[in-house]
Amino acid sequence: MIKILDKHVADKIAAGEVIDRPVSIIKELLENSLDAEATSITVEIKNGGKSYIRVTDNGCGIPSEEAELAFRRHATSKITAAEDLDAIETLGFRGEALASICAVARVELITKTRDSKMGRRIVIEGSEILENSPVGCPDGTTITVKDLFYNIPARSKFLATDSAETRRIVDMVSRIALSYGDVKINLISGNSKVFSTRGNGNILNNIISIYGSETGKDMIPVESSMSGFVLKGFVSSPAASAPSRNKQIFCVNGRIISSSVLEKALDEAYKEKLFHGRFPIAFLFLAMPPEKLDVNVHPTKKEVRFDDDHEVLDFVAKAVREALMAKDAVPQIREEGLKSLKAEQKPEEKVIEKLYEKPDQGVQYDFSTIKREENKASVFEERHNKLDKDPKEQTVEIKSFDDAVDIKKVLTTLKRESHENSDIKIQAPVRRPFDFDDLRTIGTVFNTYILAADEDSFYLIDQHAAHERVFYERLLEQYNAEEKNRQTLLMPLNFNVSAQVASTEDIWLDKVSSMGYDIEFFGNNTYLVREIPAFMDLDEAETFLSDMFKEMEDKPDLTNKRTLEKLITRSCKSAVKGGDRLDINEIDALIKDLRSCINPFSCPHGRPTFIRMTKYEIEKMFKRV
Ligand code: ADP
Ligand code: MG
Repeated sequence: MIKILDKHVADKIAAGEVIDRPVSIIKELLENSLDAEATSITVEIKNGGKSYIRVTDNGCGIPSEEAELAFRRHATSKITAAEDLDAIETLGFRGEALASICAVARVELITKTRDSKMGRRIVIEGSEILENSPVGCPDGTTITVKDLFYNIPARSKFLATDSAETRRIVDMVSRIALSYGDVKINLISGNSKVFSTRGNGNILNNIISIYGSETGKDMIPVESSMSGFVLKGFVSSPAASAPSRNKQIFCVNGRIISSSVLEKALDEAYKEKLFHGRFPIAFLFLAMPPEKLDVNVHPTKKEVRFDDDHEVLDFVAKAVREALMAKDAVPQIREEGLKSLKAEQKPEEKVIEKLYEKPDQGVQYDFSTIKREENKASVFEERHNKLDKDPKEQTVEIKSFDDAVDIKKVLTTLKRESHENSDIKIQAPVRRPFDFDDLRTIGTVFNTYILAADEDSFYLIDQHAAHERVFYERLLEQYNAEEKNRQTLLMPLNFNVSAQVASTEDIWLDKVSSMGYDIEFFGNNTYLVREIPAFMDLDEAETFLSDMFKEMEDKPDLTNKRTLEKLITRSCKSAVKGGDRLDINEIDALIKDLRSCINPFSCPHGRPTFIRMTKYEIEKMFKRV
């Protein structure tokens, strides 16, 4: 029942609904529909929502006699007393959204509950009710918002271009659609469908519906649980990153949030796997004990506070890192991949990519080109169904989730996902660990790439990238070790450095000796090296040092750990030589070294060391299957 909140309850609630742009209206309307337990919601917009927004749901509807009340300030059916604030389960509760929206736009509400025969239509402009009459309509609620800020032209000046407002809306609705996987959500802009989810709770399915098969096919499943924490979702393979954090979506205990802790966890897990300025794509659903979490219910804040940031960060980083060790994380050559080198990108993917990745330049995107095929998912079905799956591995272990935390929404999503796969056959790909033991090396091509194979895949390994990875990790290991493994040179090496480098000796000298060099000042900007790290050969040790000295002429801040690491990374690159012909023993030695690395699949700069092609893909190319 909708009722006006008591003044003192109303005052307790953070004041001021902020309706600053179309996206905030849509967010409120969507949240109302979700609170009304709708299972299907359609959002339509025109001109980035400035001229037209319509949200239609099949939720509980508003009783006719209460419909008018819904537009009054502090009118809500969701709480009554101040104590209720501590146990809010709905998304809205302030009873302000509709009141604020109708103050700045022309609004029409059509609503009907299941028990009543007739629905109700209310037209309201600038808070003034123009019409309130019975109407025949389906169950649920439709709210249309036209001409935003028609009565406050000054505020419409602050709105961005249609395309920029559209982008904001697509972004927000995508996030909601992904985190409410069991609700069917359609988004239509102009006359074209932007996306439409199926509402069957399948996360991968929804990722494909929303972001397209290009994004979807490089996703790796993440699944992990530990002492009350359950993490589920998908992350991109290192080969498929994004230029921004736009496609990082976090849902904690059923709420979409932004979280620097979770962002850091991702960065940590992808460390050295991505080029600078690239970000992983991630859709992560975290369920955790509610008492370890402070959900800030302030209207504009989407941040949550964890009691223990480190606990969350470590758990998530570890889970994602493990996922990235799976075979599927190795960049894959696929037949469709080869074709698409030539073939035009699908038009709708272009539009979506543009929306997400280009800064707004006032360009109008033509949504009429967006037309999604219903069976976008077929590529996946094929790929994942072909994998020989152990049926035991396929079933999601729900029991452990139940023990862990009881969060209604997360659990329904998870449960539906495992039980309701009937309408579509996509299943989360089974994560299979990559095993160096299964790898047989065959030889090299172009003096650069090692050929290797295991039971169902063929691999190309970039000799130089692999060597660089090994070199880098050994160096870091040595740097952090108490005991340094050194070798004494018969003839000391001589380094002549710039005066600037010599004058900053106190900063770099101990760092260089931590790496295993024995180095001392010899006078006149010259240094003598008597010992070098044991794992380097003379050439490598020399190139590495001279490169470091060269880099140091730009006065890097070596007290900063990141800067130091970058400098080491760059110097490793030049120290390792490529293009040498390796015999089979050298190949095996390199693979063995690579196997002991923490991050064997990429070089320290984020380039892949491995590329994989499955037997199935090869057979497809030969038209055997
Ligand atoms: P709040 O969501 O904070 O309660 P709103 O102004 O958003 O406040 O909505 C006021 C009331 O109108 C809600 O409490 C709810 O009872 C009713 N309402 C709004 N939208 C819907 C909807 N789509 N379906 C059913 N009821 C709705
Ligand atoms: Mg609301």
